[in-house]
Amino acid sequence: LGIKSLDTSMINEEVIIVAHDLTPSDTAQLDTDKVLAFVTRDGSRTSHSAIMARSLGIPSVVGVGSELIEKAEKEMEIIVDGNSGKVYFNPDQATLDEYNEKLEEYKVEQERLKAFKDKKAETGDGHQVEVVGNMGNLKDIVPILDNGGEGVGLFRSEFLYMDRSELPTEEEQFEVYKEAAEKMGERPVIIRTLDVGGDKELPYLDFPEEMNPFLGYRAIRVCLERDDIFKPQLRALLRAGSYGNIKIMFPMIATLEELKAAKAKVEEVKAELKEEEVEYNENIDIGMMIEVPAAVMIADQLAKEVDFFSIGTNDLIQYTTATDRMNEQIADLYQPFHPALLRLIKKVVDAAHEEGKWAGMCGEMAGDKRLAPFLLGVGLDEFSMSAVSIPEVKDQIRNMSLEEAEEIAEETLSYSTAREVEKFLSE
Ligand code: PEP
Ligand code: MG
Repeated sequence: LGIKSLDTSMINEEVIIVAHDLTPSDTAQLDTDKVLAFVTRDGSRTSHSAIMARSLGIPSVVGVGSELIEKAEKEMEIIVDGNSGKVYFNPDQATLDEYNEKLEEYKVEQERLKAFKDKKAETGDGHQVEVVGNMGNLKDIVPILDNGGEGVGLFRSEFLYMDRSELPTEEEQFEVYKEAAEKMGERPVIIRTLDVGGDKELPYLDFPEEMNPFLGYRAIRVCLERDDIFKPQLRALLRAGSYGNIKIMFPMIATLEELKAAKAKVEEVKAELKEEEVEYNENIDIGMMIEVPAAVMIADQLAKEVDFFSIGTNDLIQYTTATDRMNEQIADLYQPFHPALLRLIKKVVDAAHEEGKWAGMCGEMAGDKRLAPFLLGVGLDEFSMSAVSIPEVKDQIRNMSLEEAEEIAEETLSYSTAREVEKFLSE
């Protein structure tokens, strides 16, 4: 139509973006010095745009509906409170004063939290867990380290595949994974193999239109069918594994066969690298995400086949409660505090421990400090989250004992509604 589209990477003055929607790749390109905040009509807390915004530390409120969005005008003064989900257009002086004060308090609290960023995530009675960060691209490493992240629990590799017109080559991927591994030194860097589909599209792959993209052709389902996509990535990961502590993680595993097929692909690629006398890490750890209820129910079987689990609650919630994570109309049903979720989480951790493996979590629930006592109490070993959440979750862990956490977990599991659970954990 000849209408100029907004290229978010070209913004060169301080702004608050008010838009219908931002794609994950629009969001990934935002310049954090210029974009102070954003508000969107569509989207939800765990849509990938919101997740990216959190990684970048950009306050945002999403899924506010059309009525508010249409009132936005250029040059308008706007307050975006990402903590409470409130947005004010043309705020009065009292509100401005209130928010300037809040901003000051927020800065003071951030300073307090950062003071112990290099301390371990250890409870008062000496139980240690790992608090690590989620990343989408190399830019995210600095904030993870600055906030005291002890490694990377989830590198969403699909962001390397976005904003381009063809698949990244093995060499391009190798360079990125190697740099991530080197920057993290001894610390673990868990890299998830390509997880496209759902709300993450790759226009150049020309996938079929689907009725239910989140239940469709995505993630490992694509990779297992497409050697041209999967093998270059596995080669790059195995090769980069010689430069640091990289671990490979498969997304969206729903069956034991899928896991075995993905592992077989790793072995196939290893044999090729060996044959070609290319350097790679023979002993790389292999893990999988638990995002599908079916995987939870056979976690005892899956645990025998992997080195670790990482619970992807963003998807696990949507598949357990049959609630699209992108749909703000039914956002009330997308319940992280649903007792079903809590029981599933416990089952996964128990199944991992039964086989002597560790279990982490890299969905957004891991970064909610209210849930930290519960997760600690059921024995979660690793908490992976946006960099900004690391200090407060560490603070929460350091300020309690394992014994207390276990008591809290037990009581949490006795409630029968999300409302009761949330009330209890919030208090
Ligand atoms: C998850 O589903 O919880 C997860 C971490 O993966 P993503 O948010 O990228 O789907
Ligand atoms: Mg997921």
